[in-house]
Amino acid sequence: MSDTDPTTATDDTLRTPIVAVLGHVDHGKTSLLDKIRGSAVTAGESGAITQHIGATAVPLDVISEIAGDLVDPTDFDLPGLLFIDTPGHHSFSTLRSRGGALADIAILVVDVNDGFQPQTLEAIDILKRTQTPFIVAANKIDTVPGWNPNEGQPVQQTMDAQSDRVQSDLNEKLYEIIGELSDNGFSADMYWRVQNFQANIGVVPVSAETSEGIPDLLTVMMGLSQRYMKEEMEIDTSGPGVGTVLEVKDTQGFGTTLDAIIYDGTIRNDDTIVVGGLQGPIVTDVRALLRPRPLEEIRTEQEFEQVEQVAAADGVKIAAPELGDAMAGAPIRVIRDRDRSEVIAEVEEELAEIEVTTQEEGVVIKADTLGSLEALSSTLEEEEIPVMRAEVGAVAPRDVRVAETAGEPTNQAILAFSVDVLDDARDLAEQEDVELFEDDVIYQLVESYDDHVTAIEEAQQ
Ligand code: GDP
Repeated sequence: MSDTDPTTATDDTLRTPIVAVLGHVDHGKTSLLDKIRGSAVTAGESGAITQHIGATAVPLDVISEIAGDLVDPTDFDLPGLLFIDTPGHHSFSTLRSRGGALADIAILVVDVNDGFQPQTLEAIDILKRTQTPFIVAANKIDTVPGWNPNEGQPVQQTMDAQSDRVQSDLNEKLYEIIGELSDNGFSADMYWRVQNFQANIGVVPVSAETSEGIPDLLTVMMGLSQRYMKEEMEIDTSGPGVGTVLEVKDTQGFGTTLDAIIYDGTIRNDDTIVVGGLQGPIVTDVRALLRPRPLEEIRTEQEFEQVEQVAAADGVKIAAPELGDAMAGAPIRVIRDRDRSEVIAEVEEELAEIEVTTQEEGVVIKADTLGSLEALSSTLEEEEIPVMRAEVGAVAPRDVRVAETAGEPTNQAILAFSVDVLDDARDLAEQEDVELFEDDVIYQLVESYDDHVTAIEEAQQ
């Protein structure tokens, strides 16, 4: 581990800001993240970035190396940026923290040619609801006909150097994006004209293909985080750890484990923790804390090394007994020097905060995480589609039994968002005429259900 690892800088009063990348499918979220990671590796030689569980840390000195003249490291007292590895608003809404989103800031990726699309709007809704400051990466500028890349230059200068034709083509697209942002209630402008990135959305033209604009993007992120973190995010890493479950999965040799982001305090390998589970809070003892081995040491069998403690903000894999019922998106809290029942009550409160409205009659909804269950439930509420039962997890026969008794024929349906359907549940659904809808995109899931309702209504007339 290099001494530039931001998460080991325990003297800092500011923790590493957590950054999420959102946007419509194919607009370039994954490419942009890859490019940022790749640029970091190139800029800082080996060992400069640290692979975490579920996230990648890029330290301040590497950011200033990438950003060149744009970032003076002495202007900042943030240790760097921690990028959540899984892009998309699905994972974003899963990653909750006390009182909102786990991510402190977000990058909304919009393809300059494609503009705002359904998932861009969904992302905007979530960013609004969670009051997450964000900037817009207007991606794929290299595809504008006639674009003449000039790597190493701030993208504003390259834009100025283009022919009038290219300039006007690109500007037209960029102003469309600015217009869309304004239609959605945000004041936005090209990033070089924005003074206060918390009050106004900065649009940064980038190419995840050529890397142009990435220095600019990182610079703006640092500016936004510095301002935001100063106000909101001073932490004490010596306190008991608080985090969010990213994923519940089996890890060879350790049984059921949690991939988690710790966003406050420290978790140690002898701590007792409380985790949100399907049946309520689970109290258990940490058996091991695991992190990926440094890249050069990865062997096929054993990818993880055990560590004694992990401080915010950081990703970690937690091994502990009794985790079978743990839910992705649920809170984790360490009981250390604290009253056990108080910590349990806090986890209960956090679970109760997740708003899922159910009624006596309605459809059954299932989702892979608490955050996505909440997102689906709120979409259905907006559309006045009643929900009778809402749960995290795969569709099981008992869900079909519930749907069967749901009253109106239109209610005899299960909407499954990013979860498996067990074979016996599928057979039973067919047998009992319960409709199953499965999708990984909320609006598509709701759309297919709407079509089904329309068909039933037409048949009744
Ligand atoms: P995601 O679904 O938002 O994660 O999008 P991806 O990162 O998978 O990108 C979708 C497609 O667009 C892939 O074929 C990428 O290679 C391509 N792509 C992404 N960014 C750029 C860009 O800046 N320029 C060009 N020309 N292609 C890009």
